[in-house]
Amino acid sequence: MSLLVVGSMAFDSIRSPFGEVEQIVGGSATYFSIAASCFTPVRLVSVVGRDFPKDVMEKLSARGIDTRGLAVADGETFRWKGYYENDLNVAHTVRTNLNVFEGFDPVLPPEWKDTPYVFLGNINPRLQMNVMDQISKPRIVALDTMNFYIENSLESLREAISKIDVLIINEAEVRQITGELNLVRAARMLMDTGPRRVVIKRGEYGVLNISGGDIFAVPAYPLDKVFDPTGAGDSFAGGFMGYLASLDRKEISNKDYRMATVYGSAVASFTVEAFGTQRLESLSREDIAERVSMIRALIEIP
Ligand code: AMP
Repeated sequence: MSLLVVGSMAFDSIRSPFGEVEQIVGGSATYFSIAASCFTPVRLVSVVGRDFPKDVMEKLSARGIDTRGLAVADGETFRWKGYYENDLNVAHTVRTNLNVFEGFDPVLPPEWKDTPYVFLGNINPRLQMNVMDQISKPRIVALDTMNFYIENSLESLREAISKIDVLIINEAEVRQITGELNLVRAARMLMDTGPRRVVIKRGEYGVLNISGGDIFAVPAYPLDKVFDPTGAGDSFAGGFMGYLASLDRKEISNKDYRMATVYGSAVASFTVEAFGTQRLESLSREDIAERVSMIRALIEIP
């Protein structure tokens, strides 16, 4: 079943304790769509500048990512520069250049309006709502955000959150939006404003998936080499939503959501093994299935 994503496509410059890269291809929609395309066809809505490499777009298309919703605008592609210190859970932003995102007005191809699964990735919440307004009767709409929009566009972000089904967000952002330090209470506060489910990404400490009274916790796979956590959150979301879309169910059960959380965690664990999208691009369904078993084995008591 088709899965639509709107989000950023970027050139990232990143420093981690394990190395440094300049202007590599990144962005929330890029990581998400590559991850999700391991499971299901993806419809990509984003904008890049004329400087964006054509061969990257061709590589995305070759993976079953439909780029008819990807605008190429006059100007430069979005750029993000950041670094990580020893705590890889915290990304420090040095610079954000919105560039072509400043004038972006996403218009979906008419045949995409009935897309059943929708992911609103990390961009201005007004654009996220703009995309939601163009979709009729989706089965699930999930949304991610980040500190940049919590600080600069909180009111429209709250409005966007009130219209969605699943909020996928990291723990620092949950605390920042709600002002509540306790994650369970913070998730409840957010669910009171609209979403049925809050999925909290906690970096190397795993994921909490909270809905009503149900809490499901998945550990992150403990890797012996981590290079770059950039994109882990978006790859998690891509695996999570891609898995759900591949099931193609009218009613998604709690068990489905639990499995999706394990699949998302498995996919994200590969992303951090290399800078950029490199490792993600070479992933097979067998690699993912094996990592899913390894995560399940972490908490099994024989
Ligand atoms: P994450 O999965 O949370 O690590 O997201 C990483 C991606 O977010 C990077 O590839 C960045 O290009 C992108 N990013 C960083 N800042 C922003 C922003 N303000 N708006 C949209 N995307 C961003």
